[in-house]
Amino acid sequence: MIAVYPGSFDPLTLGHLDIIKRACKICDKLYIAIGKNSSKASLFTDDEKLEMINEALSELELANKVEVEIFSGLLAEYAKQKEAKAIIRGLRVVSDFDYEFQIALSNRMLNSSCETIFLLPSSKYIFLSSTIVRDIAKNNGDISSLVPKNIEAHLKAKFQTK
Ligand code: ADP
Repeated sequence: MIAVYPGSFDPLTLGHLDIIKRACKICDKLYIAIGKNSSKASLFTDDEKLEMINEALSELELANKVEVEIFSGLLAEYAKQKEAKAIIRGLRVVSDFDYEFQIALSNRMLNSSCETIFLLPSSKYIFLSSTIVRDIAKNNGDISSLVPKNIEAHLKAKFQTK
């Protein structure tokens, strides 16, 4: 079973990694798809995100199952191209649900051969988001329990040069 896990990953957090590990238990191949998002200003470029995710994954034994790519255009089309049977999304708090519900139904309308599967992270990551990580890092706070080691280093470097 091929699955796609789309997101902004600006940057990858331990919450994302938790979902990736769970998704790998139920699929044979997982594409982590970094979406080009024109409306949201990103801290990291798409290429930086790709490199950072690959670095973080190289420490885990998922290399043969997971591939990281950048995609643009419709997710439903990208999933079709990859012959994916599932789109993986993580659900944290109830407030995620409304938006995710709309997106999932739209994607099903556009690609009826693909179902959205919602996974729940470990409860310790339930309030974790890339936005929170960026805010803490920007103010020199400790993010070591929120992101992989390599991402922590990239965040430090990014805010030093800003
Ligand atoms: P997007 O802009 O598409 O929401 P994100 O990178 O913020 O991109 O998130 C990608 C996916 O990962 C979404 O389904 C989001 O709900 C999920 N996700 C992000 N952080 C967590 C977390 N801490 N626990 C579970 N799922 C998460």
